[in-house]
Amino acid sequence: MSTFPPCPACGSALTYEDGSGNYVCPECAHEWPVKTEAATDDATARVWRDAAGNALQDGDTVTVIKDLKLKGGGGVVKQGTKVKNIRLVDGDHDIDCKIDGFGAMSLKSEFVRKS
Ligand SMILES: [Zn+2]
Repeated sequence: MSTFPPCPACGSALTYEDGSGNYVCPECAHEWPVKTEAATDDATARVWRDAAGNALQDGDTVTVIKDLKLKGGGGVVKQGTKVKNIRLVDGDHDIDCKIDGFGAMSLKSEFVRKS
């Protein structure tokens, strides 16, 4: 038995597939395509990996694998520093985090390893 996703417009669970590639909601008449690869492929396919190739997730704890000099004489984040509760973001520095003693900062995933 197959299950259909709830209606994105009204939340109804009584949706069905109409046989032409669309889901249909009988309650609000909303229709939307069954296939969503085009919409999700690039947007959600990115996987963040640490220096060892492990996939990273929001909330992970990682360890810094090399001394990282901060810009503007902000000090050095030492190799071996544990960073809790990372947040993955798009960009050159693809990890947002907070490090004790340093505050909020950005790291590159290639310089950390999942703990
Ligand atoms: Zn609906």
